[in-house]
Amino acid sequence: SIKIKNLNKSFGNLNILKDVSLDINKGEIISIIGPSGSGKSTLLRCFIDLEKIDSGTLEVFRSPLVCDKRNPGKKEKTEILKKMGMVFQSFNLFPHKTALENVMEPLIVVDKVKKEAALKKAMEILTMVGLEDRMNNYPQALSGGQQQRVAIARVLARNPKILLFDEPTSALDPEMVKEVLTVIESLRDTGITMVIVSHEMKFVKQVSDRVVFMDCGTILSCDTPDKIFNSAENERISKFLNNF
Ligand code: ATP
Ligand code: MG
Repeated sequence: SIKIKNLNKSFGNLNILKDVSLDINKGEIISIIGPSGSGKSTLLRCFIDLEKIDSGTLEVFRSPLVCDKRNPGKKEKTEILKKMGMVFQSFNLFPHKTALENVMEPLIVVDKVKKEAALKKAMEILTMVGLEDRMNNYPQALSGGQQQRVAIARVLARNPKILLFDEPTSALDPEMVKEVLTVIESLRDTGITMVIVSHEMKFVKQVSDRVVFMDCGTILSCDTPDKIFNSAENERISKFLNNF
């Protein structure tokens, strides 16, 4: 349900993404791994139109989101983007709102859901991520892992069809990594398409249908976790994986 063709993106005269092509199927879980600066975050940001691409085509749900030839209207674009959600390394919660209010806010403000319905939905999702006892806490009273779970709940409450994660556990202390990864893994059978940038190799290996290896703005390989993690023939990939 995401089709990327010959995508190019530069910052100034630095070519950051070079002719990147990738098809992601509906319901698929794709992980993106690769060295720092290889363009993983930039690629994810292009998916939700946070970065403007220079050339190429990006199609989501069979509609062009960005395209050299036929650019969609603003309304069409908004409809596509509504079905996508992104979770960042920093949780970006509203500090003066409780966990519950953080999840309710976009439902009420963006999706125009009535307050009672938003409350019901928010409670349901926070329970799903294991925070039923923490709903009325402010972010500062929550651990990093709990804050990230609120951030995931906030995105999930809007019923996304596609979820993007950019290093969702990189800002967490080691003991909190697992609780967040468990929540992500629990979404496996929901049918939500997920694209996950992560350095948690064990998790990547376990959860992904396919793994994309990026290096210097290109996709060096895209294959099953088995093939990627046992690929002795690609020296660049095995050298990278040896660091974990
Ligand atoms: P990391 O693993 O460290 O998060 P990454 O693979 O996510 O790295 P990106 O953040 O996509 O890498 O960055 C790719 C390259 O693009 C880097 O060289 C970075 O310095 C550059 N870059 C990213 N954003 C900008 C920007 N807004 N302006 C200029 N250069 C940028
Ligand atoms: Mg990054």
